[in-house]
Amino acid sequence: MIKRRKTVQVDVGGVKVGSDCPIMVQSMTNTDTADAVATASQVAELALAGSEVVRITVNTKEAAAAVPEIFERLDKMKVRVPIVGDFHFNGHLLLKKYPECAKLLAKYRINPGNVGFGRSHDDNFRQMIEVAIENDKPVRIGVNWGSLDQALLARMMDENAKLAEPKTADEVLMEAMVCSGVESAELAEQYGLGHNKIIISAKVSTVQSLVAVYRNLATRCDYPLHLGLTEAGMGTKGVVASTAGISILLADGIGDTIRVSLTPRPGGDRTEEVKVAQQILQSMGLRSFTPQVTACPGCGRTTSTFFQELAEQIQSYLAKQMNEWRSSYLGVENLNVAVMGCVVNGPGESKHANIGISLPGTGEAPRAPVFVDGKLFNTLQGANIATDFITIVDEYVRTHYSPVEEADSFVVQK
Ligand code: SF4
Repeated sequence: MIKRRKTVQVDVGGVKVGSDCPIMVQSMTNTDTADAVATASQVAELALAGSEVVRITVNTKEAAAAVPEIFERLDKMKVRVPIVGDFHFNGHLLLKKYPECAKLLAKYRINPGNVGFGRSHDDNFRQMIEVAIENDKPVRIGVNWGSLDQALLARMMDENAKLAEPKTADEVLMEAMVCSGVESAELAEQYGLGHNKIIISAKVSTVQSLVAVYRNLATRCDYPLHLGLTEAGMGTKGVVASTAGISILLADGIGDTIRVSLTPRPGGDRTEEVKVAQQILQSMGLRSFTPQVTACPGCGRTTSTFFQELAEQIQSYLAKQMNEWRSSYLGVENLNVAVMGCVVNGPGESKHANIGISLPGTGEAPRAPVFVDGKLFNTLQGANIATDFITIVDEYVRTHYSPVEEADSFVVQK
């Protein structure tokens, strides 16, 4: 059981973020925000995939002016998801000049390294905080090592150089990120923003640095923390690096909302980052989003691909059915199905799942025992093992999860 770090709770457009709340999944569009049609469409895709908050870039006058139309289009599509505005350099100007944009957005992301220099830094930052206060919005103080406040870093490097035993440049950089986040949050509070209106992130692009920065940050404040590896990259590398960094911190109880920053391939599916974020939380046992299939990897005992095909068939079937089940059966996302390749681990693993099947390995009798809630339920054989097994799964869902209209009598049996 993971013990979550205690934080204040922040309300982001009706979604609560903080220690006792479910760890929130969020994502970000990669459309030109000025293109309201494309942006609304991608926000809808991300929300339907399960993103509980979606961030959009607000970088130009055209982008800020398009925000009301994006909301109207989403409203017509009946998509209601809090939208966060990502501001850099000119956020103070855009938020003042486009009050409707400021009013509609659920939260403002402010990067303290990108709000100006010297005196204008504090003035610009203050102006954004004042708009947040006027509109009763929370902010995310989003520090990024690619755009760290250079004046702060230079000051800390100078102070470090005077020490008898100076830290390494990397250590100072990590400390500067934490200071930038915490000091900016304190400054926002001095300007009048509520303590429960602030979320912090401190993103880096390597796993070890991410872990070091957030472990430090977690001891220095009780604001909710937004986790994510910045510029995680493409494909397997992006998925693995994000999962490694985020999971280590989640296991420490650190992290209240996560975003997996994957670079999609040209024409790729932007919702992949949402699915990966959900899978991280589900694999860590922190939330459930979809039924899980536990499948063995196969080995020399499985001379055919039959069990791989069955695992694939079951997984696709569950994914397809989930849309219907989710609105029909309460708690069905907790279902766990095991598809195993032989008798070595098959029966044992199957017993840990709600429903498990152990297929025959090489030289084993051509029969597949099925376990339901840990007990031998049936032994399938013949050409229709896959369809027979799916029938058992269907029946299990129908008889073990309450229909949605009977919410009061909901009991998940496992
Ligand atoms: S369960 Fe059987 S087939 Fe699957 S990996 Fe283990 S030994 Fe191999």
